[in-house]
Amino acid sequence: MFPHLSGLVIERIERCHDVIALAARARGSSACCRWCGSRSTVVHGRYSRQLTDALVAGSRVVIKLTVRRFRCVNSTCEAVTFAEQVAGVTKPHSRFTPLLTGMLTAIGKALAGRAGARLARALGGGGQPAHVAALGPGDSRASRQAGACPRGG
Ligand SMILES: [Zn+2]
Repeated sequence: MFPHLSGLVIERIERCHDVIALAARARGSSACCRWCGSRSTVVHGRYSRQLTDALVAGSRVVIKLTVRRFRCVNSTCEAVTFAEQVAGVTKPHSRFTPLLTGMLTAIGKALAGRAGARLARALGGGGQPAHVAALGPGDSRASRQAGACPRGG
């Protein structure tokens, strides 16, 4: 039903007014360090993160994601721990899924400013003109995706 969320295990779906909240966690038992690419299965801890996704049937979609923090197994890596990223769902520090970021970027390119912010709000995304404009031409955030480990494993 949501192919861009195939990397997640959806544990619960709740609807409150015009918001659909998905409680989810990543599939699989390992993740790759974003600095060195080493795959790790050593979970150091967990925390909650909230992402906004594209509207579904006119409702805002919020993903309440339980994120695992892994210990990097590469002794030469400067990162002691790292947070897992889910392809198609998360990017470091982003509050939006790549799908919604792509939509906001398209709005930023076409409209920018206040008109873009109004349309972005209507589509469930951010509503600040500066934010929408920042996702316009020249911004590469939308094209970066969480993906496979560079060094596999
Ligand atoms: Zn590492």
